Amino acid sequence: MTQGRPTQGRPTETNPAPARGPLNRRLAAFGTTIFAEMSALAQRTGSINLGQGFPDTDGPEEIREAAVRALRAGHGNQYPPGPGVPELRDAVAAHQERFYGLTWSPETEVLVTTGATEAIAASLLALLEPDDEVIAFEPYYDSYAACIAMAGAKRVPLTLRAPDFRPDLDELRTLITPRTRLLLLNTPHNPTGTVLTPDELSGIAALAVEHDLLVVTDEVYEHLVFTGAHHPIAALPGMRERTVSISSSGKTFSYTGWKIGWVTGDAPLVAAVRAAKQYLTFVSGGPFQYAIAEALALPDAFFTGFREDMRRKRDLLAEGLRTAGFRVYEPEGTYFITTDISPFGDEDAYAFCRALPERCGVAAVPNSVFYDDPEAGRSQVRFTFCKREEVLRKAVERLCDM
Ligand code: PMP
Ligand code: GLN
Repeated sequence: MTQGRPTQGRPTETNPAPARGPLNRRLAAFGTTIFAEMSALAQRTGSINLGQGFPDTDGPEEIREAAVRALRAGHGNQYPPGPGVPELRDAVAAHQERFYGLTWSPETEVLVTTGATEAIAASLLALLEPDDEVIAFEPYYDSYAACIAMAGAKRVPLTLRAPDFRPDLDELRTLITPRTRLLLLNTPHNPTGTVLTPDELSGIAALAVEHDLLVVTDEVYEHLVFTGAHHPIAALPGMRERTVSISSSGKTFSYTGWKIGWVTGDAPLVAAVRAAKQYLTFVSGGPFQYAIAEALALPDAFFTGFREDMRRKRDLLAEGLRTAGFRVYEPEGTYFITTDISPFGDEDAYAFCRALPERCGVAAVPNSVFYDDPEAGRSQVRFTFCKREEVLRKAVERLCDM
């Protein structure tokens, strides 16, 4: 089954609900994630996979060795504490203070989760009542729409439009209603690469305070900012008590399979998220937590080296995609480049991505499935550059020959 747009399965007069199958109505609209679909297609066709965002080299060797040591020493082989092992909670708090000057109590204001994915699900399930409205930027990271639906709440899109993909704060103001409970942010933003500026963050924070809204902010690409800097909204006046910040080790340390993420926030918010987390997974990947505690304490040179390496890869792929004929929207952060395929005379990103592996042996992801507004992302295709340079070069060669 393909994902289609998240709206695809919503019943209307002309599109009646299908006969009842085992999957409930809240999830029936979503199908298989686009990442799984395009990775399976890449594998089937032996294509270079620039679709799903995962690095093709592992992260620092010493961090892998730290995980091996923890496994051998029996650290975390049995259920670790629900909120996370103290070493990792301390390390998350120290990291937030070191990079952003934010101070959190490791005991009550840090929660370890099974990747950012669980942090997003637990936050939305904990904080939303059915029928609450959640305003989120579209294109959405796919799990946002699904988790809002699982919580029985309603998503309200603020559309980021090409070519700049900036949020229009006047429009945001008009979207807020008495039912709005929560703003769901993502900076740096997947898939567009937009990094919210201090002014944009202040404007959003002012609206959150004025309307007494909660903010859940997904900052998994916090160390992948190429233009400007990453600013956590939790640091702004009036935001500490209303913001749940989410991050993950997957992207920063290139171990996406370990699934160690975390939440930071004021104690009552973290307690709420913990209440949901305990019934989702109870606890998260024991031995890996010890290794990520060490990773978070790596020297600054690691973080800047990682970013500069990714910047080179971004530049290499952006240049190659331009040469191949794509319109390239240069990302300020993340490890994705959004392109427009109209120069090829193609308009349907989904059809383009389904055909691309057969056509030239490269897989990508259509941004169109991340939008509710069918026109806004119709011709946008996302490529990841978190691959070895020789792989990126080979992919560019293939795209140039297509
Ligand atoms: N949020 C965004 C914006 C992502 O791109 C991803 C994928 N890394 C996630 C959340 C999920 O992160 P994790 O793999 O840690 O669950
Ligand atoms: N975050 C990665 C991406 O956007 C993939 C995560 C996933 O497959 N769920 O490509």
